[in-house]
Amino acid sequence: MKHIGAHVSASGGVGNAVLAAESIGADAFALFTRNQKTWVSKPLTADEVYTFKYLLKERGFDSQYVLPHDSYLINLGNPNEENLIKSRNAFLDEMQRAQQLGLQLLNFHPGSHLNLMSEDACLDQIAQEINLALDKTEGVTAVIENTAGQGTNLGYKFSQIARIIRGVNDKSRVGVCIDTCHTLAAGYDISTEMGYQFTFDEFEREIGFEYLRAIHLNDSKKGAGSRVDRHETLGNGMLGKDFFARFMHDTCFDDMPIILETPEPTIWAQEISWLRSL
Ligand SMILES: [Zn+2]
Ligand SMILES: [Zn+2]
Repeated sequence: MKHIGAHVSASGGVGNAVLAAESIGADAFALFTRNQKTWVSKPLTADEVYTFKYLLKERGFDSQYVLPHDSYLINLGNPNEENLIKSRNAFLDEMQRAQQLGLQLLNFHPGSHLNLMSEDACLDQIAQEINLALDKTEGVTAVIENTAGQGTNLGYKFSQIARIIRGVNDKSRVGVCIDTCHTLAAGYDISTEMGYQFTFDEFEREIGFEYLRAIHLNDSKKGAGSRVDRHETLGNGMLGKDFFARFMHDTCFDDMPIILETPEPTIWAQEISWLRSL
């Protein structure tokens, strides 16, 4: 079964994200558990944690379909030691917040080499940073999102994500989130039936579906190989309606959070019911 939702607002407290998800008819959702644009955030209060867990249960959500996203500032591949330490601390805080909230996943972008180190060295550093965070937390899986390959962002090729996973000691607590917009922009043309087949065969070969833990379901304003990350509402971009029908019939994507990050929050409810109708 497919579990679908969107990246909803947690403004006014993480508990509000549960209510926002309920209001769009979701049975999965994503959220930021802290201000995603600052380095340091206030710790979650016992009250906030209680309210979140209470609402989750009361409104019928299962914690395994909740996918917190980390701060955009964090770069575990940062070649600069001082900046890397900032990222390391913030990433640990994100993992700890997920654990406090009783969640099992933390979604993040692998990192950028900033043209100051080789791709392989950067990927290996990211794996080491994941190891540090896993050692200090329990029960939360680090979920690596594939990227569009903008700038010096890594993780736009499945082989790069595979290399990070190889460097992680506890393979049971590392996973992957496929963003469909990023996948297309990175050059995997999943808009055609053949390209879809070819891409997910490569995913199976390079990484393996056993590592797939979540989906970001977005259409893309830009075409295959553009390396430009611009999300579009479902069916109105370069992926098109046929892609979403194919996706909804594919059992490889059952039993994991499927999250919309499309640009019109006012139509999320419609987009979700359209997907379910396919
Ligand atoms: Zn993301
Ligand atoms: Zn995404």
